[in-house]
Amino acid sequence: MNQTTHPDSRFAAKIFPSPNHGERKPSGNGAGDDTPARRPDMLILHYTGMSDAGEALQWLCNPVSQVSSHYFVFENGHTLQLVPEERRAWHAGASHWAGETDINSCSIGIEIANPGHPGGLPDFPPEQIAATLNLCRDICERWAIPPERVLAHSDIAPGRKIDPGEKFPWRYFAEAGVGVWASPAPIRSGRFLARGESGQPVEALQAMFAMLGYGVTVDGVFDEALEAVVAAFQRHWRPEKVDGVADASTITTLRDLLAMTREARTA
Ligand SMILES: [Zn+2]
Repeated sequence: MNQTTHPDSRFAAKIFPSPNHGERKPSGNGAGDDTPARRPDMLILHYTGMSDAGEALQWLCNPVSQVSSHYFVFENGHTLQLVPEERRAWHAGASHWAGETDINSCSIGIEIANPGHPGGLPDFPPEQIAATLNLCRDICERWAIPPERVLAHSDIAPGRKIDPGEKFPWRYFAEAGVGVWASPAPIRSGRFLARGESGQPVEALQAMFAMLGYGVTVDGVFDEALEAVVAAFQRHWRPEKVDGVADASTITTLRDLLAMTREARTA
């Protein structure tokens, strides 16, 4: 979006400006003033978590809230641009992915109007999904955002955030080229890792999550933080059961996804 009237994406109907944004900050240590501003290379999806979409939109545009997103998608698919893509919108908060902690500086954020878990997690209407998918594809194409860097807010802030929730159609998006997906392994009874356990298998599990990108400490202790990471992973990639328990299905799905993303990175 330039200073005039045209949204950056042709899938946004118009601009509805939020004042809540700043300069994208360069990454790394010793970055000087002459370092060029970062280009977004991640796409983060959110739900608003409010019963009224209009109120959610007003909140994202209220200077008091200190939050915003680049785009806002209503239930009927109507899409607005709130913040120019070159600018740093304030949607991620304290977060972590693949060593990056200033996700706002390297991402584009989309808020999808949905009452969320507090509102009973209603289905995303088909018109809204279609509009969001078009918008995501357009953003990923124009900024060359790799599929493995299209993520949920819950992925980058597990334990703090659970949006856009386990009902978001990640599989459908991945099949359309937005995000990555490995068919979840079937859920069966058997051995599992859960909170309270410790040792080498827990350490191995933590290393796998860290390899995918999650901000986990590899210390062999299955604590509350790791439980939140397991739940975040399930919410995105094994949505049938979100319980924070690393069962065989969860671990197999994680392994398959790792193999897939590694292939993509080396291709
Ligand atoms: Zn969010």
